[in-house]
Amino acid sequence: MAPAHALTIDVEEWFHDDWRSDRGADWNDLPSTVVDDVLLVLDLLARAGARATFFVLGDVARRKPELVRRIAAAGHEIASHGDTHRPVPTQSRVQFTADVDASLAVLSDCIGAAVTGYRAPYFLRRARDLWAIEVLAELGLRYDSSYVPVRWMPYLGRDIPRVPYRHQCGVWEFPLPFAERFGGWNLPYAGGGPLLRFLPYRVVEQALRAHEAAVGPAVVYCHPWELDPEVRTLPGTPRYVRLWKQLGRARTLPALTRLLATFTFRPIREVYVHELAA
Ligand SMILES: [Zn+2]
Repeated sequence: MAPAHALTIDVEEWFHDDWRSDRGADWNDLPSTVVDDVLLVLDLLARAGARATFFVLGDVARRKPELVRRIAAAGHEIASHGDTHRPVPTQSRVQFTADVDASLAVLSDCIGAAVTGYRAPYFLRRARDLWAIEVLAELGLRYDSSYVPVRWMPYLGRDIPRVPYRHQCGVWEFPLPFAERFGGWNLPYAGGGPLLRFLPYRVVEQALRAHEAAVGPAVVYCHPWELDPEVRTLPGTPRYVRLWKQLGRARTLPALTRLLATFTFRPIREVYVHELAA
């Protein structure tokens, strides 16, 4: 039988993903779409009988605690996406510790249970940023799903890990899958634009099947704001960033629906239950 894959949803507002979000986008002046976007995701998952890990930003949980409780009540896992969506390399160790700690406090308060997993905003791309994993261990977290050792473009990582592994500090890493050496490149297909918007659905399905056969379960991800047909960007956003976000937007919903109908998806804590028990 094919294994269940881990579906992960990064819960943030459309403006948290803005290229200047670490400079302080102001919630009060911007339209909030996170509740509608997440409710749409919850509805799709319920129809497909799928469950997922939701990496929720602390900033969202503080303003929309009901939403977090609703996600958890539907049987999904709540994990941390940090508090403010600032890229990890722009933070000192003290700032990063405070950021993750704040998110854990608000999330566990919402659901009345401890949170055990973390995903960094914009991922962790360089080995020299791995000090952040030690901080996760210090804060009592059990796993991370952030380390993607590639350059931004054209995804030329040489040693991209394919199987779950344990950092020295004891925290488990559940890496995103890449199709190896696709035309000489490592093709990222497991999330964001490539998963649902740019790549033909067939390519994603074949890559996931190949991963299934060679490695086992894969971790895939998407953002709720990707399901919003309206592309939103802050004033002054460069044209190429807007185009990047616009590209294939209409394909997101049908692609996700098809993916959910084809594969079985469960939260990380269930897919990797044996690793996390170790
Ligand atoms: Zn994010």
